[in-house]
Amino acid sequence: MLTWVFCSAIGIVVVLYVNFQFAWWRPTVSYNHPRVLMYHMISHHKRRARFNKLRVDPIEFDRQLNWLKENGWEFVFVSELENDSARKQVALTFDDGYRDNFLTADPILKKYDAKATLYLVTDRHNRDWSSSKKEHHDDGELMVEPKLLDEDVAQMVSSRRWELGGHTETHANLLRLNDEQCFIEIHQCRNNLEETFGSSVTSFAYPFGLFEDRHVELVNKVGFQFAVTTDQGISLDLDAERLKLKRVKVSGRDGLASFRLRMRTGKCRFRD
Ligand SMILES: [Zn+2]
Repeated sequence: MLTWVFCSAIGIVVVLYVNFQFAWWRPTVSYNHPRVLMYHMISHHKRRARFNKLRVDPIEFDRQLNWLKENGWEFVFVSELENDSARKQVALTFDDGYRDNFLTADPILKKYDAKATLYLVTDRHNRDWSSSKKEHHDDGELMVEPKLLDEDVAQMVSSRRWELGGHTETHANLLRLNDEQCFIEIHQCRNNLEETFGSSVTSFAYPFGLFEDRHVELVNKVGFQFAVTTDQGISLDLDAERLKLKRVKVSGRDGLASFRLRMRTGKCRFRD
């Protein structure tokens, strides 16, 4: 009797744990709605690093693109997103501008004939943008992470596998700036990218996913067609949400099962 009670208790704990880790019971979001995936780095994890969630292992990234391709997903730039119920569109996005995007992610994109949108901070060297959000947590981990050189970005753009999007000049926390300062951050990043790389920049990503209505208005006024957030999920109305698009976070801790769950429902874990 005691053994039975013990085994039942263990069973319940296991079931609760699995349901907490993999919220498989969330409903499928129709595949007609485009998925916008959010990545940062494609690299191996570092020992005892705080930001390993932002590091997707190259082998996992390869598996993810392979799965997307085999399952009929069409790779598009954010600027190409369309309401089209006949297509399964996926837009890969990379935030900030880490050098592995060129050295590691790009060859894998090429292998699968995929493409991606890069939200590039223009003034990105020797900055630790983790600190703008939580100063007491600042340990410089992201500051020492190599960033893309302009030569890398020029090659990426000319390959036509990458398009550029704005992510402010300095990875600013827009909530802390007045409207004039925000305008400069949002407007100049676009001008700088267009002047430096000669390609049009039509979408924007809010740094840290932090924004208010005034920032959405500014992004619209500057002329961006789309803007992406860090709100997890899948936007159901592309036109209404074009300046506040949700994204599907791809975590460095995900295996392929988690990735497939995120593609199906927009989220993975119970707390997402
Ligand atoms: Zn960022």
